[in-house]
Amino acid sequence: MQVVIIGNGIAGVTTALSLRKRRRDWGITLISGESDVFFSRTALMYVFMGQMRLKDTQPYEPHVWREKRIERVRGWVTHIDVGERRVRLDDGRAIAWDRLVVATGSTPNRFGWPGETLGGVQGLYTLQDLETLERAAADARRAVVVGGGLIGVELAEMLHGRRLPVTLLARESAYWNNALPAEEAALVTSVVRAAGIDLRLSTGLAFIEGDARGRAATAVDTTGARHDAQIVGLTAGVRPNLSAVVGSGLATGRGIRVDRTLHTGVDDVWACGDCAEIVEPGAPPDAPGRVEQLWYTGRMQGEVCAANVAGEQVAYDRGIWFNSARFFDLDWHTYGHVPAALDPPDAALRQAVWVDAPRRRLVRIVARDGAVVGVNSLGLRQRQAVWTRWIAEGRSARDVAARLDDAVFEPEFTGRLDPRAAAALKEQLA
Ligand SMILES: Cc1cc2nc3c(=O)[nH]c(=O)nc-3n(C[C@H](O)[C@H](O)[C@H](O)COP(=O)(O)OP(=O)(O)OC[C@H]3O[C@@H](n4cnc5c(N)ncnc54)[C@H](O)[C@@H]3O)c2cc1C
Repeated sequence: MQVVIIGNGIAGVTTALSLRKRRRDWGITLISGESDVFFSRTALMYVFMGQMRLKDTQPYEPHVWREKRIERVRGWVTHIDVGERRVRLDDGRAIAWDRLVVATGSTPNRFGWPGETLGGVQGLYTLQDLETLERAAADARRAVVVGGGLIGVELAEMLHGRRLPVTLLARESAYWNNALPAEEAALVTSVVRAAGIDLRLSTGLAFIEGDARGRAATAVDTTGARHDAQIVGLTAGVRPNLSAVVGSGLATGRGIRVDRTLHTGVDDVWACGDCAEIVEPGAPPDAPGRVEQLWYTGRMQGEVCAANVAGEQVAYDRGIWFNSARFFDLDWHTYGHVPAALDPPDAALRQAVWVDAPRRRLVRIVARDGAVVGVNSLGLRQRQAVWTRWIAEGRSARDVAARLDDAVFEPEFTGRLDPRAAAALKEQLA
């Protein structure tokens, strides 16, 4: 049995390693156009900032692939032939498969902005992006970053760390308020500005002008303001990378459409990770599915995919949602369901919020019908195991309010929640 996996990110690599545990004698081939090695994409910013070497971001030693007998092929897949069961690479090679997994990740959004192909204009996704950024930063004087999400703020921090003045353009009226409630977005906005980033809200990129050598020189925003910039970072979201599946006959919507076993509906073909769009059972054929663009969901999907490729029948269940990040020394953790806005209002939801804006701390607890369903925490780290257990058990808000210290993870401090925060949250949840 020959299994070919396109993509050696967390989803593809997890599929390969989990499959090897189940099937010792199957051939497994991992194809990637980006890199021979598997690295942590989430750590790219620390490499640029000099806090890690690239090799520190590689979870596996080179000998692992030989020991596990996972063949690695470097090249871009340009076509999947489902009938002939072959993939074709850009250099003309063809590789045959009996079972195929597509794990091609995401690609940064581009909106056809005039000037977006000039030198110095780029996204932040691949190793190659990091290399071009490194070269551009060597002689840039200023930078503009476009996009109001996590990668935008990361890129702003990276360039700011190289002492480049950075203007950050976000369409939203407060940073990231399409994902965060108003108080959290206000706190993040003030942290980004306090760090020295020229954050412009309610605006976006209109076009980029180049110099005589074809390099970015000026970014013009939608208010007409002109920003001197030799680097223009485009971080206005990512979308599933479907380049390999064009013309293959696999069903696509936003991503590659799969059922809960991550099967595409085409015999012996699965998809997992950022590129997959998971369609719930019984949904109409054109109903939008769920695209999950996170590291941990990529790993979980890779495990489920391996089980199904090996012949088991395992349905993917993400469990309790969580996410976390750290930027400009601000920790952000979220577990469960915390709506950004309540429109229309939801009478069954109750929210308790404590904000200590000067010290950049915030805790929001959300309860539905008296049971805790989610938490947001800024400036205070929280224990994932505790929150996910409380949410999974449907703990009452009152019970959680009495035990908030159990969830706080601040080993270098007291390990306890500020008593004023505990009192305020308890009162609101009573
Ligand atoms: C800067 C940055 C910071 C992030 N930070 C976080 C974070 O803090 N937390 C978090 O949960 N997530 C974070 N993410 C998202 C996370 O990295 C992704 O969700 C995850 O990497 C997706 O894994 P994947 O295996 O699905 O795809 P990818 O990691 O994108 O891997 C896909 C691979 O497929 C290859 N490929 C694609 N098309 C082809 C083709 N046609 N032929 C051959 N090879 C191909 C690509 O070269 C790539 O190597 C971050 C992402 C970025 C860019």
